[in-house]
Amino acid sequence: MSAWHPSVFSFPASYAEARQRFLALAAGQGVLRAHAGAERGPDGETLESHSVWSGPEDASRVLVLMSGTHGVEGLAGSAIQQYLLQQMADGSLTLPPDCACLMVHLLNPWGTAWLRRCDQQGIDLNRNFVDFRHPLPENPGYNVLRDALLGTSREVRQQQLHTFERQHGRTALEIAISGGQYTDPLGPFYGGQAPAAANHLIQALIQEHRLATRQLAVIDLHTGLGPYGYGEVICDHAPDSAGTATARRWYGDAVTLPATGTSSSVPKAGLLDYAWHAIMDAQSCFVTLEFGSFATDTLFEVILADHRLHQHGMPDWHSPATRAVKQAMRHHFCPDAPQWRELVLFRARQVVGLALAGLTS
Ligand SMILES: [Zn+2]
Repeated sequence: MSAWHPSVFSFPASYAEARQRFLALAAGQGVLRAHAGAERGPDGETLESHSVWSGPEDASRVLVLMSGTHGVEGLAGSAIQQYLLQQMADGSLTLPPDCACLMVHLLNPWGTAWLRRCDQQGIDLNRNFVDFRHPLPENPGYNVLRDALLGTSREVRQQQLHTFERQHGRTALEIAISGGQYTDPLGPFYGGQAPAAANHLIQALIQEHRLATRQLAVIDLHTGLGPYGYGEVICDHAPDSAGTATARRWYGDAVTLPATGTSSSVPKAGLLDYAWHAIMDAQSCFVTLEFGSFATDTLFEVILADHRLHQHGMPDWHSPATRAVKQAMRHHFCPDAPQWRELVLFRARQVVGLALAGLTS
C-alpha cells in the first residue's frame, strides 16, 4: 500500500496538461485510443478525447468512468482519473477478477480547453440525449427568463428570478434555468437539435466494447453543484426501478434522487444517463458523482457570464474581460484549494471502491 498523499496530487490547470498527464499514466494501464475532433484549443492545439480499457478484454463486468461531459469540469475529472491510474500502477487499486475498467477522458475536450461547460456547438452534452425524431422537450420557464438571464444587469436578473421563485417555487426556478432548453443555442443548458459529437462517441464506445452484454457500473464525474467538496452520488434511474435499487445497494443511503427531490440536482431532460439506462440490465446502474463547490446562484451567475462573453463568437482569449470570466469558471468548477481537492480525491476513491465491490457482490 502506498501512503495517502492526495493533498500533494496536482490537478491539471489546462486541457494540454490534463491530456499529457493522463496519457503518461494511461500508457501502462491498458489499451489506449484517441478520439480526435476537428476543433482547436486556445493555443492552436488539437483536441481529443481518449479512452483506455484496463483488464480482460472479455470481462463480464465493467466499471465505466467518464470525465469532462461538461468541458471545464474535466479538470477535476481528469485529476480523479489520473489519481486512480496512479493507484492502479502502484498496486493500491486492483480490479477484481473478470472485471475491466473503461475510462473515458474528457468527453468534451473543447469545453475543457476553452473553460466552458458546453461544447463547440453550444450544446450541453448532458441535455443532448433525447430522441431527436420526436418533438423536443419544451421549457416555458426558460423562455420567460431568457432575456433576464442573458442581460447584463444582475439587479434586473435577481429581481426576475426572485419573482419567478415566489410564484412557482425554487425547484421550478432551477428547472427553468438548468432543466434543459432546445430553442436557444446561445443560452445555457442548451440540448441541441441533433446528437452532439460526444453523443456519437458514447454510442460508438457502447457498440465497440459490446457494453450492452456486460454488467456495468457507470460513474460520470461532475463538479460545481452542491455543498463544498462533497461528492454526491446522484441517481437518475426511476425511483422504483432496478437501477435505483442497485445504486442503493452499492452506494448506500447517501444516494440521492432528483425525481424525489432528495438531490442538489433537479429533474433534467436529455441526460447522458439515459443512453446507458437503455442498455443496462437489472444488476447495473449509472450514477453521477457531483462534487459541490459554491452556491447554486453563484453557479448560474458564473455560467451566464460565460455565455454572455461568447454571445458574439469566440472572444479574445487574452483580453482582461475574458481572463476574468474564465478565472471565475475555473474557480467555481475546480477550486484551487488543497482541502477541496483532497475531499474530491478521497470521495472519488471511496465511490470507485464501492462500485467495484458492488460489481463483484
Ligand atoms: Zn456537470
